[in-house]
Amino acid sequence: MNYTKKLIVAPGSKVRLREFDPAFHGKGAAEQNADEELAAAKARLGELQRKMYGDNQHSLLIVLQGLDAAGKDGVCWHVIGGMDPQGCKVQGFKVPTAAEAAHDFLWRIHQHAPAKGEVAVFNRSHYEDVLVARVHKLVPRKVWERRYDLINEWERLLQVENGTTILKFCLVVSKEEQLRRFAERLDDPHRQWKISDADYKEREFFSDYLDAFDEALERTSTAQAPWFTIPCDHKWFRNLAVANIVAEALEAMDLQYPKPTVNLEQVRREYHSAVGEEKAGGKRKKD
Ligand code: AMP
Ligand code: MG
Repeated sequence: MNYTKKLIVAPGSKVRLREFDPAFHGKGAAEQNADEELAAAKARLGELQRKMYGDNQHSLLIVLQGLDAAGKDGVCWHVIGGMDPQGCKVQGFKVPTAAEAAHDFLWRIHQHAPAKGEVAVFNRSHYEDVLVARVHKLVPRKVWERRYDLINEWERLLQVENGTTILKFCLVVSKEEQLRRFAERLDDPHRQWKISDADYKEREFFSDYLDAFDEALERTSTAQAPWFTIPCDHKWFRNLAVANIVAEALEAMDLQYPKPTVNLEQVRREYHSAVGEEKAGGKRKKD
């Protein structure tokens, strides 16, 4: 399956997450081999990311947004985990601190944008300011209304100034599967810490979030910073989809390893003997 083509939100298109199937898995063809396919996709991802790090011309920003329990943390672990930590960083965004709230909404975000050669992954992002801020009326409508344009302009700045490719993933889980995952967490001592009252309270706003996502995706999916809607009821499909879309984007960058800075032949001649042993002090040992 071409995950990029299948799941991209074409710029200018209508989005109706209510009509989206979070259980979609492309007929499950890949399910039997999902582990091997994911391992292969991660290896490819890691190789491409290290090439981007060496090339030092491009950067990549991956935005993870989604409904609670859709799997933002899971994607970080199972997909981003394939990258070399040197040159890749994950940044989570929580409720803004007093200092952050006293600035414009992009202030805390911009400092985590990726440097040349780097990948930055946002676990939640500036989109919270048109999602939770809208759903819970944290700011008046006229404030969140103007943020879509500001976001598009800011994302263009990253692309124009720093060669940043931006991929935005909206992780969609069904309301039933979300409840099932909450219940699972209740029974799993390793994940009980993840449950909060807020999760259950947010569920009451499920449909408001769908509306907020619809508008955010419609207004901010652009050619240089597209959104992808990822069906997440099947974790294996979610992971494969994200891994392949990121790998496809890295492949499209036409990355190059930097040219060697020395004359390789000369270095070989000077420092390595015919059998590949190091020559003392760069000079042939006299025996
Ligand atoms: P978690 O990602 O589960 O640790 O939760 C982080 C919480 O921070 C979520 O409830 C988010 O909605 C909230 N949050 C993140 N960014 C913002 C923001 N800009 N304004 C308000 N709440 C936010
Ligand atoms: Mg949470």
